[in-house]
This record gives sequence, structure tokens and C-alpha cells, in this order.
Amino acid sequence: MVRLRIAPAPSGDLQLGNIRTALVNYAFVTQNKGEFILRIDDTNQKKSTQESLEKIIKTFDWLGIKFNEGPNMGGKFGPYIQSERTSLYDKYFKKLQDEGKIYECICPKRSEKKNNQEETDCKCDSIILHKKKEIISKLNGKISYRVKIKDEAPSEFKDLIMGKQKINPSKLKNPIIKRSDGTYTYIFANCVDDYLMKITHIMRGSDLFPSTSSQVLLTNLLGGQIPIYAHLPLLLNIDGSKLSKSVGSQSINNLKEGGYINSAILAYLLTIGEGDYKKFVLDNPKNLLENYPIKKLGKTNQKFDPERLKWFNKQRIKKLSTQELYDLSYPLLKKEHFKEPISLEILALHKDKINTLKDLNNLLKPYIPKETGNYQLEYSSQANDQISKNILNSLIKKIKKIKKIDSFEFNKSLNELEKELNLKEKEGKFKIYSTIRLSLTGSMHGLEIYDIYNLIGKEEFIRRIEKFKN
Ligand SMILES: [Zn+2]
Repeated sequence: MVRLRIAPAPSGDLQLGNIRTALVNYAFVTQNKGEFILRIDDTNQKKSTQESLEKIIKTFDWLGIKFNEGPNMGGKFGPYIQSERTSLYDKYFKKLQDEGKIYECICPKRSEKKNNQEETDCKCDSIILHKKKEIISKLNGKISYRVKIKDEAPSEFKDLIMGKQKINPSKLKNPIIKRSDGTYTYIFANCVDDYLMKITHIMRGSDLFPSTSSQVLLTNLLGGQIPIYAHLPLLLNIDGSKLSKSVGSQSINNLKEGGYINSAILAYLLTIGEGDYKKFVLDNPKNLLENYPIKKLGKTNQKFDPERLKWFNKQRIKKLSTQELYDLSYPLLKKEHFKEPISLEILALHKDKINTLKDLNNLLKPYIPKETGNYQLEYSSQANDQISKNILNSLIKKIKKIKKIDSFEFNKSLNELEKELNLKEKEGKFKIYSTIRLSLTGSMHGLEIYDIYNLIGKEEFIRRIEKFKN
């Protein structure tokens, strides 16, 4: 049975790069009918929070990434939160200690060294025992421990992307596996967990590639099977810098708050590297996962393209039913100034005009019933000229004249208006419609004029134009 895991740290929001890695894992699990495990790596206790842990679980849930085992559902290899597994780490630490594979390290901590002092290779293994005991007693037991991997025989591991890798242990450093505060390090906790949880494949960012050799040797010492690795190309910023958690705008939570929908994020991430990405616009996530070309993933890092993500979002929003659009957007809009429900009719008219759900925020403002009486428009000075006044004056005259207004009569009046004003062909038309729209909604772009009329009614229509003119 193929078993994969991801092990995010609960220290801040998940960002696009994390989700992309999770999706490649999920695709591999899906294609091999394997099992997917969520493990929480809180080995760095200082940075880990319960709030962040809950957010991680919610985010995966929102994206529809499903696990077979994890902290919120349990499983036969639990617990799935590393801070709850200390007794297991103690057990394997003791095993290695009994086998003489561990030694005390009394080198100063990195933080205690001077800034420009380079990390030298630890020689604590060769310090004569009685001298070492003397130093240790002075340190009040606050010592760290390293595992001897340098003495191991040469080994190798398989990497689905990097190819077969040979390991020369003498070139490596003996890694610290237990810190002076008694906590276990990332490398030790993860090797023990991957071994005990019977993980068969580890797919992760290529930034972790350098530590793989040490992990393989440590796994050998623990007596575990070496998993098959795949070190994935990284997702970088447009300028080539690393996407980091601190770049908040690319956190999944920020994208969600910014009006991106889950299926668009999935479609974008699962088609990175595809030249002809537009053909995937309607593929559902299940299809994308089943057909994800893991074998074609190269070593070249890829860049995050916000425009492409936006394109997917726009296309996916267009395909929503109006009710779906309402269900997705109302919780966001409610946080702003939308206290009353929004009519489906208004939403339907805007569905094709938005890139993100948040765009609705400004577009819908002119149609909130409570605001229509004292709606404050942010006027643009360029529409405040004589031509604009002429446009609006004759529009009001015409509208007042029509007895029974329907879309035919309304648009006939607009056509007559175009002819009478005799403005230059294309620019003239734009000037007319953008001016009218601006006077009604505060924006030059948006709905058809008749649609606006229909939504706000004749009285309000005339009132806004009059107010704009003066
Ligand atoms: Zn040392």
C-alpha cells in the first residue's frame, strides 16, 4: 500500500507553495489508490499555535483535500501531532544510545556564538571521556545529542525527480537529534514518524533535498525501510525569490478573504507548467488529480503567476449558478457593509464582470437599498465638463418623456441621444455611456444602463443624475 504524508508546521497560514506540494502528494495518492496522512510538525514549540493548527485543518477541508489519517480523525499509527509522540522518540533515542550511536555535544549553541563565526564540524565525539564529564557537569545537564552517521557505510536512495542518489557518509555532519532543552529535532522526529507510520513515499520541496542523505542514514540506523523520495521544483515569486509564509498575500487564507474560490486555486495549482492551461478551465479537481503528470515534473522551479490564477477565478465564477455565487460571496460581503441580503437578480447581472468575489463589494454598493437614499459617489473630475452636462440633461429630458419604460423604449432613447449629440464615433459612445454610468454608480464600467435603471427605479435614477450634475 502506497502511503504518503505531509507534515506542515502550525506556525502561520498555509501558503500556495505548501498547498501545491500537498496537491502533488494527493495526486500521487489518488493515482495509486494509496493512503494520505496529515501529521502536524510542531517540533518548533515556540512558533507553534493551536489556532494555526485549526486553520491548517480548515484550509485543507476548504480545498477538498481529504486525508485517511490525521489529528482530527485519528488512525492506527497515531497520535498525529508530533508533540504528543515524545514517548516514542524517547524510546528510539534510547535504542540508538544503547547501540552507541549517539554522543553528547557540548559545542556552544548557534545563538551563543559570535555572529560571523562559522559553524565548525563538531569534534565532541573524540573528546576524552573524563574531560567531557567535567564539562557536562558544569552545563547542568543542558547538552544536545548528535547521532553518528559519518561512520555508516555508503548508501543510496531513489528520487523520482532527481534520479538515483549515492550517499557518502564521511562528507556529512553528524546531525543534532535532541536539543539541549530536551526537545527532539525535525530530522529525528520525522525519521521516527515516517518509519513508524510506514510511509512509502516522501514528496516535498527541493529545498529539503540537502538534508535527505542524513535522513536516509538515520532511518537505516533506526531499522526502517527507506522511502522513495520526490523533491519537487519550488514555486517562486515572479521575481524568482522564494514564496514565503511571511508574504501574506499568497497565503491561502488571504486568497480566500480576497475572493478567490477553492476550485480556481486547485485548477491553477494543478496546471502550473502546462502551456495550454486554458483547456483545463472546466476540469473538476478529481479529473485534474487523476491526470496530474507527476512523471513529467522536471527539476526547474516554477513561478507563481497571479494573472493566471485570476483568470481561473474569473472563469470558474462565471460557471457558478447565481445561488452558488450568493452562497460563496455573501459571507464575504457581510463582513463589509452589506447588512441586508443581496438580490439574486443583481448578482446574476454582475457574475460575468468580476475577477474575484471581492470585486462585488464596490460593484454592488450602488444597489444596497439602505444606501440608495444617501448614496455618496466618488466622482471623477473628468466627467465634470460641459459635454457631460449635455449628455445628462438630454437623457433626463428623454426619460421623463417616456410614458411606459421598457428596455426597447429605453434603448431607443439612448440611440437617439447618440445621434443628437453627434460625438465622434467610438470615443463619443464611450463618453456617453461612461458618463451616465458614473453619475449613477460612481464607476465608468459596469452594468447596462437599462439594468441599472431597472434595479434602482425611475425616481432614484433621475435623482442621482440631478445630484451629479450639480
Ligand atoms: Zn559538539
